[in-house]
Amino acid sequence: MDKKLKLIDPHIHMTSRTTDDYERMAKAGIVAIIEPSFWMGQPRTEVGSFKDYYNHLIGWERFRASQFGIKHYCTIGLNSKEANNEPLAEAVMELLPKYVCKEGVVGIGEIGYDDQTAAEDKYFRMQLELSKLVTLPVQVHTPHRDKKAGTIRSMDVCEEHGLEPSMVIIDHNNEETVESVLDRGYWAAFTIYPRTKMGNERMAAVVKKYGPERIIVDSSADWGVSDPLAVPKTARLMLDMGIPEEHVHMVCYQNALAAYSQSGQMKESDWEDRIPIDQRRQFNENSVLRGQDPLVESDNIIS
Ligand SMILES: [Zn+2]
Repeated sequence: MDKKLKLIDPHIHMTSRTTDDYERMAKAGIVAIIEPSFWMGQPRTEVGSFKDYYNHLIGWERFRASQFGIKHYCTIGLNSKEANNEPLAEAVMELLPKYVCKEGVVGIGEIGYDDQTAAEDKYFRMQLELSKLVTLPVQVHTPHRDKKAGTIRSMDVCEEHGLEPSMVIIDHNNEETVESVLDRGYWAAFTIYPRTKMGNERMAAVVKKYGPERIIVDSSADWGVSDPLAVPKTARLMLDMGIPEEHVHMVCYQNALAAYSQSGQMKESDWEDRIPIDQRRQFNENSVLRGQDPLVESDNIIS
């Protein structure tokens, strides 16, 4: 990886990943990440589970990232799958206003449609209203089934609620959806899943065809088969395929920063002037170390 190329992964579920991943990501040039709140692979049954999860995203996980020199942000929201449990969804909606204004929260997300049910529609709309109230960008998860219709419907509903497209990041795009998303003025994010859906080469082809404006690359790495180095690998491949470095910089760094910095919670100096790594630090008396020698950067050794 080109040492000078700084990268942001604006969609990655680090709660499901290891410290090895953090180390490899930092080495590959990732300076900042955004962790959307999502579902856990099986449904939660209590509102307290959401509360603890949100606290985890703004607390321990942010600390854990800092121990490897990566700046951690998150988006907070009720995901589409769990919106289908209406009594629980009601309770989560009451919880959200307390969390969306916390430090490091750069958007409402990931929200949108899964099966495109009436309940999903209801809580998507309620969260769009919340985003307007607190002036936060919205991170939209588009459905994996019936994607094209679901993507268009997501944008229609955003417009019905009077959202500015510039405040909405439409995620999990593919070649079928990208044109309408860009044409309508939204940010178009792409998830690079290993060996399926959007592959690296297809991503590079999209950037060649549409240019770098408003296109964002992410990994969406989580507890499933996924790759926390998808952004650095795609950046490398795009350079190898002759895409100008300036364009790679836009789709793997600058556009995500521009979109999410509209929250007022994310700025370049957060990582340019970050405090040096000191793994002697603790969070609520917990450390990431298990008896190893702590890494302690001095002020002048930050790459
Ligand atoms: Zn996700």
